[in-house]
Amino acid sequence: MNEETEKREKERVQLRNLVELQKKDNEINDLEKNLEIIPGQIASAQKELEGKKGKLNALQEEIDSLKKQRSQLEQDAKAEADHMAKTKSKLPTVKTNKEYTAILHETDAIQTKITEIEDKELEVMELLDSKDQERPGLEAEFKGEEDQFNQYKQKKEAEQARVQKELEEAKAQRAALVKEIDPKFITRYDKIRKLRENVAVVSIKGDTCQGCHQNMQPQVALEVRAGERLHQCQSCDRFLCYIPEPEPQTESAVPK
Ligand SMILES: [Zn+2]
Repeated sequence: MNEETEKREKERVQLRNLVELQKKDNEINDLEKNLEIIPGQIASAQKELEGKKGKLNALQEEIDSLKKQRSQLEQDAKAEADHMAKTKSKLPTVKTNKEYTAILHETDAIQTKITEIEDKELEVMELLDSKDQERPGLEAEFKGEEDQFNQYKQKKEAEQARVQKELEEAKAQRAALVKEIDPKFITRYDKIRKLRENVAVVSIKGDTCQGCHQNMQPQVALEVRAGERLHQCQSCDRFLCYIPEPEPQTESAVPK
């Protein structure tokens, strides 16, 4: 193997490893993004569930308040009944017409109050009935939603554990890959990736860098395409590789 061939072979391997490193870093990025959003997804589903629990709690509060009203009305009715009995008990001792008329007025007034209380009681009891009927449905609905949430949470936690494991594996694979690459390229790669939106290795298309869309010399493009020389874009510094574009899919191949 002559010196030139050996140099090219080395560069070819370095380039291939750099391409793999970029792929691995993309994978790590995606996994980290996935991992980041999971706790928020669980929290927002939980918040939604708590909102639905609020609806159930509000109904229960309404029922409790109606029960309180009903018991107050029962007490009021009893007090008025006592009042009526006491007033009527005065009748045998009445001496004048005027006194008699006054007592009749009083019993009329009490009767009006009693009727009002009874009407109100009826109203409260009807409302209580309808609220009581609403409750089992709402409870069942909530229970269903709670079960659904618990399932979702379990699924998301399993996903979280799986992604975490995949991330650790990917990081280990990255570390192994880094060992295969000349440290000076790694330093350059990391620096470019930091400066260029996480992309340090980019494919060319024709004579164009797909990272910054600047053209390069045809000779450079040719060498990149052959995959035997390690070139960096003159404009954006990214390492250049050649990944053929996938065959464009025909209309019929894309189901609608
Ligand atoms: Zn470029």
